[in-house]
Amino acid sequence: MRSDEPYYPINTAADRAILYGYRMMMEPYPNVIFGGRLGSYKYLDMHQAIDAALKTFENEVTAFLAGQDIPERVVMAG
Ligand SMILES: Cc1cc2nc3c(=O)[nH]c(=O)nc-3n(C[C@H](O)[C@H](O)[C@H](O)COP(=O)(O)OP(=O)(O)OC[C@H]3O[C@@H](n4cnc5c(N)ncnc54)[C@H](O)[C@@H]3O)c2cc1C
Repeated sequence: MRSDEPYYPINTAADRAILYGYRMMMEPYPNVIFGGRLGSYKYLDMHQAIDAALKTFENEVTAFLAGQDIPERVVMAG
């Protein structure tokens, strides 16, 4: 495999270390919602990506729009 070839995270120790690094990078941005394959660093099929996006909208964006005590958030999918 070429060193720059993209591949799926498969939950190895190396993948978990990368995910931990991403979570550390996300920490300063509590008002940003990270989602999708890139944002969650998970293998997702299409139906799972859509389901996760809909659930995020229902659980986080709808609550924000309803004026509940959720801080201002920016949604970032990828
Ligand atoms: C070859 C292939 C075949 C597949 N076949 C199937 C299948 O048969 N059935 C199935 O259910 N799923 C299939 N999938 C999976 C499906 O494509 C994904 O589940 C789905 O696209 C995930 O959606 P997503 O929004 O998380 O990510 P994506 O669709 O990958 O969207 C990510 C977006 O973020 C953008 N982006 C990336 N980096 C940045 C950045 N730095 N700044 C701004 N934008 C950025 C990208 O350009 C892209 O538009 C396949 C995937 C591949 C690659």
